[in-house]
Amino acid sequence: MSAEGRVYGYSAVLMGSPILLKLFEHNEGRAMRVFRLIKQLETLLTVNRPHSEVMAINHAAGDHPVVVSQPVFNLIARAKEVSMMPGSCFNLAIGPLVKRWRIGFNGDSVPPAKEILALRALTQPQQVILDPQLRSVFLEKRGMEIDLGAIAKGYIADRVRDLLRQEGVENALINLGGNVQTLGGTPDSSPGSWGIGLKKPFGAPDELIGVINVTGKSVVTSGVYERYFEIQGQRYHHILDPHTGYPLDNELLSVTVISDDSIDGDIFTTLLYGMGVEKSLAYLADIPAIEALFVTRDRQVVFSSPRQFSFTLRDDSYHLA
Ligand code: FAD
Ligand code: MG
Ligand code: MG
Repeated sequence: MSAEGRVYGYSAVLMGSPILLKLFEHNEGRAMRVFRLIKQLETLLTVNRPHSEVMAINHAAGDHPVVVSQPVFNLIARAKEVSMMPGSCFNLAIGPLVKRWRIGFNGDSVPPAKEILALRALTQPQQVILDPQLRSVFLEKRGMEIDLGAIAKGYIADRVRDLLRQEGVENALINLGGNVQTLGGTPDSSPGSWGIGLKKPFGAPDELIGVINVTGKSVVTSGVYERYFEIQGQRYHHILDPHTGYPLDNELLSVTVISDDSIDGDIFTTLLYGMGVEKSLAYLADIPAIEALFVTRDRQVVFSSPRQFSFTLRDDSYHLA
C-alpha cells in the first residue's frame, strides 16, 4: 500500500502483469477482494498454466467439446464474433503461433517460415465450435489453441469495476498492466477526472508522451514496445498478424482506446492496430462510443473524433496531427 495525498495505491503482480488499484480511502479488505476476484478469473482464463477452463478446451482439441462456465463461454463467443469479422486481425485461435513465438516469455525466437505456415492452418476461428445450449466449446483440429490474451484483461477490468460499484465506491482506478478502468474521477481534481499517462514508446517507465484525462471511462493501450524481442536489429512484438503469422507491421507504435467498457477497449486496440490509422479513422466514424488515439512511428499523435476525453502533450518531440 502507498499513500499519495488522499489516494491509496495497492499493487500486486497477477497475470504476469503489474496490477495497481487506486482508492480514496485506506481499505485493505477491499483491495484484497479486488485481487481475489482477479485471481479467480485468471484461474479460469489463463493459458500460461497447465490447467484452466480455457486450457481444458485446448487439451481436448480435435477430440471432444468441453463444457465451460457461462462467463467463459460468453467471453469466447464475443472473441469469436470479433475474429470472424471480415478482414479482422483479431483472432482468438492464434494460440499455436503465440506459443511458438513465445514473445515476451523466455525462449522467444523467430520460427522457420515453414513452421509458421503449418501453424497458421491451426488458427482458423471458424473451427472454434460453440454450442450455447450445452455451453460447450470444441476445437475441430488437434493442436488448435484458444488465446484470450487480447481480450481477457479488458473483461477482468470491467468485473473489478462492477465489484467496486456494488460496494458503493464512486471514485477508483484499476490498472491491469495497461488496461485501465475508472470509476468517477479524483475528487480533488477539476472537473473530477483521472489522468492516465501515455507512455513514450521504448522510453523509461516514467517518460510520457502526454496525459489522457477521463471520467468513469476505460483507457486501454496496446503497443509494439510492451512485449518484444530483438534479433539482428529486427524487432518482433507480440501482436501477430493472423494472415501472415508474423508480428503486425505498419506505421503504428501504439493504439489507445477510450470507451465505457474495458473489454471493448481491449478488443479494439488489437483490431485497430491491425487496420492502421487511415482505415481505423474511417471505421470509427460510425462508432461514436469508441474513441482512439494513435501514436505513429513518425511521432504523430492522431485522434479519432468526437472526443470525450482531453489530452495534454508533455513531450514536444511528438506532434498532434
Ligand atoms: P493486446 O494487444 O491486447 O493482446 C496481445 C496478446 O494477445 C498477445 O500477447 C497474445 O497473447 C494475443 N494475441 C497476439 N496476436 C493476436 C491476434 N492477432 N488476435 C488476438 N490475440 C492476439 N503473462 C505472463 O508473462 N505470465 C503469465 O503468467 C500471464 N498470465 C496471464 C493470464 C491471463 C488470464 C491473461 C489475460 C494474461 C496473462 N499474461 C501473462 C499476459 C499475456 O500473456 C499477454 O501478454 C497480455 O494479455 C497481452 O495484453 P496486452 O493488453 O498487452 O496486449
Ligand atoms: Mg487487446
Ligand atoms: Mg490489452
